[in-house]
Amino acid sequence: MRFPKHITVLSIGLVGLLTVPALTLTHPSARGRTTAGGAEKTVSDGVRPTASGQDNRSDPAAHGAPTGRPDRSRHDALDPKAADKGAGPEARRTPTLPSRRPLAERFGENEEAEGAASSASMASYIKYSPGWTQTSPKIYVLFWGDWTATGDPYSVANYLTRFYQGVGGSGWNNIQTQYGYNCGSGAIGCANGVRIQNNTNQFKGYAYDNSYLPARPTIAQMEAEAQKAANYWGDRSVNAQYVIALSKGHRDQKSIDRGWCAWHNYTWSSGSPISFTSMPYLPDMGTTCGANKVNAGAAGLLDGVSILAGHEYAESETDPFMNTWMDPDLNENSDKCLQWQYSGYFRNAAFTSGTFAVQPNWSNYHLQTTGNGCQFWG
Ligand SMILES: [Zn+2]
Repeated sequence: MRFPKHITVLSIGLVGLLTVPALTLTHPSARGRTTAGGAEKTVSDGVRPTASGQDNRSDPAAHGAPTGRPDRSRHDALDPKAADKGAGPEARRTPTLPSRRPLAERFGENEEAEGAASSASMASYIKYSPGWTQTSPKIYVLFWGDWTATGDPYSVANYLTRFYQGVGGSGWNNIQTQYGYNCGSGAIGCANGVRIQNNTNQFKGYAYDNSYLPARPTIAQMEAEAQKAANYWGDRSVNAQYVIALSKGHRDQKSIDRGWCAWHNYTWSSGSPISFTSMPYLPDMGTTCGANKVNAGAAGLLDGVSILAGHEYAESETDPFMNTWMDPDLNENSDKCLQWQYSGYFRNAAFTSGTFAVQPNWSNYHLQTTGNGCQFWG
């Protein structure tokens, strides 16, 4: 395939074959970490964002526990292990793909609220509906617009790249391993299904697209860009996550209209649904979208970038096509734990690729066992 000439090739990930072991444990930390086979990045020149900007901020454990939490009372005492016992081999059918409804309709029925304090229930479980999850995510980032020092004065490209390089295999991402697909309709755990792994090396590559970027790209334009990315990398698997990052001064119209910092959804490419994220240039939004939520001064200017990148990444894992793991109010896992209103709520997470501000993520297991479903480490 010929590459579109307006895309500069910098790094292309090789897609390895994945094996999915049968899993029976439910506690997130009970899983061994596995690595997707054969995945390795290649870099064609020296312009690749480097790890030189790595920070060594305070230990995550040094930060206080979330305070001022909403009521944590539980509705019931469902056991995530027991919830899946009825799922036999017949339940291991291929999940259904989403219907081809217009994106606008899907937005209306399953909205994101990444810009506002979440009022999501702290007492309700997220439940499985038959649909896919990303058990071995493969992350591709397309930097759209001007990503020179002029268009990226805060080195977001470097920071985002390092975040995605390290998120797989992190303790922060280990919470996700209690979820998966073929878990049984209505299940709150996935003991007998195919669970999310926590592989290292999930970042499969990035590229720059310096074609014209509108100040306020529409949903259709964001979809088209995600399709361009899918055409470029050629990965239309369930596990593919395409992140469309916008350079300084650019924010998609949907985010503006809804007051969102970022969002994820899916679109279609050659007959396959592809999961993608819209990532506006968040330093433009300042503290509204997380700047200095954890780290003071210049060190925290990009706190919101990793908080939102992690949020959309985790939701794309558990709900890539907007039809599975949600609570009764249609909140996805990360929606329940994006509590902007609490000071001291966010923390630094140490990845192999650096230290990044993150939000906690929703854990059915911890809701049941500790009463607190929002956890930083699995
Ligand atoms: Zn969300």
